[in-house]
Amino acid sequence: MKKQMRKRVNPLSGWTVHRAVMMVLIAGFPILLSGCPKNETPQPRVSMSNTPATNSLPPIPTGFNGERAMDHVRKQIEIGPHPPDTPELARTRSYIISELKSYGLAVHSDDFTAATPQGEKKMVNIIAEVPGETKDVIVVASHYDTKYFKDMRFVGANDPASSVATLLEIGRVLGSVREKPKVTYKLVFFDGEEAFCENWDDCGSEGAPDNTYGSRHYVSQLKEKNEVGNTRALILLDMMGYKNLELGRDTMSTRWLQDIIWQTGRSLGYTDVFTDRPEGVGGDDHEPFLRAGIDSVDLIQLNGYPYWHKANDTVDKISAQSMRIVGETVLASLPKIADHLAK
Ligand SMILES: [Zn+2]
Repeated sequence: MKKQMRKRVNPLSGWTVHRAVMMVLIAGFPILLSGCPKNETPQPRVSMSNTPATNSLPPIPTGFNGERAMDHVRKQIEIGPHPPDTPELARTRSYIISELKSYGLAVHSDDFTAATPQGEKKMVNIIAEVPGETKDVIVVASHYDTKYFKDMRFVGANDPASSVATLLEIGRVLGSVREKPKVTYKLVFFDGEEAFCENWDDCGSEGAPDNTYGSRHYVSQLKEKNEVGNTRALILLDMMGYKNLELGRDTMSTRWLQDIIWQTGRSLGYTDVFTDRPEGVGGDDHEPFLRAGIDSVDLIQLNGYPYWHKANDTVDKISAQSMRIVGETVLASLPKIADHLAK
């Protein structure tokens, strides 16, 4: 595992960079060059949109690597079950944070205390930021806690290791793109999505459910900081790494957002994955966002996953390809969603 800080790398090949730099120089950079002090060779920002060479440059490859994502799944499973407020979840968190930092992303964590059926628990959301040209924000998120089971060793390969892994790999790709995106992207890892009681609705009360602790805290912070308005969309990943991946349309999700992702996935050739069957989820981390009026979509395969909350939600059920399909589709959808928001 790489531990050292990695600079943002230019995704363009040496030849195209050289050529683009030449075009930039021709376009008027000599004035800047001659004005610079010695030993400080200026690094012209190669812009995909502003250089005259735009049309001849290849598009930035998304570069999502499914094998890297598989590695992240294995690392989380090696740590063992990691419900909220355990040393194992702290280890998982350190892993996520050090990975995100190694991609050159700004990372911060938000600590809070949650009242649960098992008493007060310390929880921590992790937030990485890819600054854009505007303050408008698209959040891409996953929870990173595993569900607590008293008598079962539950490692959660699909729930949540695969979505955490996919979000990390999305972060790596976004961190490698030099061009500033139109809007700001926030990659958020929620603590405490899972219920402490056996079933989703067994405990808790009206307005204080026993689940989605991290996402509810996140939205409460948005309200406190007056940031609900500029948080324009949420893409939630949850249980999307099954080797027989087939995503239905979550019935709670915002239709236009879901449509963009479904159309993008199908245009990439994943017609069998992005199906039109309805997916009834009955609540997830997107619910607090929807309640706050933030358009949200959940990419989840709940009903077609027989190992959900079972001891055999293990690594053999997950595939690099499924995570790549979702990762590539989300990466390709982000600029389209930003365009839609700008209209
Ligand atoms: Zn779960």
